[in-house]
Amino acid sequence: MRLVILGGGESGVGTAILGKKEGYDVFVSDFGKIKDSYKEVLIINDIAWEEEKHTEELILNADLVMKSPGIPDKSPIVKQLKSKGISVISEIEFAAPFTNAVTVGITGSNGKTTTTMLTYHILKTAGLNVGLAGNVGKSFAWQVADNDYDFYVIELSSFQLDGILDYKPHIAIITNISPDHLDRYDYKYQNYIESKFRITMNQTEEDFLIYDANDEAILEWLSKNKVKAQLIPFSLTDEFKEGAYIKNNKMEVKINHEEFTMETEYIALEGKHNLKNAMAATSVAKILQIRKETIRESLSNFQGVEHRLEKVLKIQNVQYINDSKATNVNSVFFALDSMNTPTVWIVGGVDKGNDYHELMSLVREKVKAIICLGVDNKKIIDAFGNVVDIMVEVTSMNEAVRMAQRLSEKGDTVLLSPACASFDLFESYEDRGRQFKQAVKNL
Ligand code: ADP
Repeated sequence: MRLVILGGGESGVGTAILGKKEGYDVFVSDFGKIKDSYKEVLIINDIAWEEEKHTEELILNADLVMKSPGIPDKSPIVKQLKSKGISVISEIEFAAPFTNAVTVGITGSNGKTTTTMLTYHILKTAGLNVGLAGNVGKSFAWQVADNDYDFYVIELSSFQLDGILDYKPHIAIITNISPDHLDRYDYKYQNYIESKFRITMNQTEEDFLIYDANDEAILEWLSKNKVKAQLIPFSLTDEFKEGAYIKNNKMEVKINHEEFTMETEYIALEGKHNLKNAMAATSVAKILQIRKETIRESLSNFQGVEHRLEKVLKIQNVQYINDSKATNVNSVFFALDSMNTPTVWIVGGVDKGNDYHELMSLVREKVKAIICLGVDNKKIIDAFGNVVDIMVEVTSMNEAVRMAQRLSEKGDTVLLSPACASFDLFESYEDRGRQFKQAVKNL
């Protein structure tokens, strides 16, 4: 069987290694450049590859094609493959048959990584033989090639889900759905929603779907479609016989006639959105019958993930927080909502068609000054110019942080939560977050 892999990144190279191990004739083709470290791996494993081109004769003779998530369906080579009737699948679809592990698949517009890391942390603390895969750490295929785990916690983007045929997670989570990546979905929100729900399409009665029961898009989809899996809702406001919710400052999770309770003040992650993530992760733990003590311990010592509401330093009693991963308005909403003291907000970058409307009352209530850090700040200035007293534009992270120090006083918070992509001034959101942390340290 000839396996052609489009894209020589983490999931492409992982699939190549697994494919080779399973006896496929493997070829990797990347239209861009392949990182040196990945090239070395391909060479050591005697896997054929090319970069900066797609040679049709070497690709169109495939029996099976794995397309990396970054490559759109509309790209000419994918269209050609599909018109020839060749199956184009995602890494998760390719790798899943080669492991007997129980998989927990986590998707959603926001909170995927946090929920994935927290779930992994609980399972690991419980002593399970568990692997972490997806956007964080090694790709799933690479893990399957190298390890023999009994469980996997996998972060799944909608692009990964678009390329599945038979894959099903035993436990699926949809954290929430709000418009994102619409450029890849013909600018139709409904297509993006459908893509997220592919996570449950192959599930059966013995599987579980955990979801936010206050999310409009999720509720609407569920009201119109049948799901075979057992439904486990979570909510900050409603109560369920079977599900997770918050009542009288306690998190309660009821699954399989078993009940778990924990005072929310002992949950280390802060913010309402993180209570949702904690409810989702705890539901997984309850389904897997992990001991209550272990769950409590894990929730109380999980310190969060870099660039997600990450506390950097307190300087002269001003708390600096790095939320560089907040690349859309919805995640900024939850960041601002969790601020308890007057906030100097650093915002801006590459606009993704943002509508700042939903932030208005939070900004009025919590933000004392806005520092715009982007190449084009017009939309932010238009939206908030009349809402906050102080609004300044800066052109570098160092300048932004120095300005924030000047504008803040004892007891305030300085929050980097950009609501935008980072590619105007930075290489990535990680680069932006690290530059922020360095600038704070330089103070
Ligand atoms: P993802 O992997 O889906 O991008 P992350 O866990 O990396 O999500 O978090 C991205 C941003 O979204 C962070 O800035 C975080 O503060 C915010 N966030 C995290 N969980 C949620 C949630 N459940 N709802 C809304 N926003 C969230």
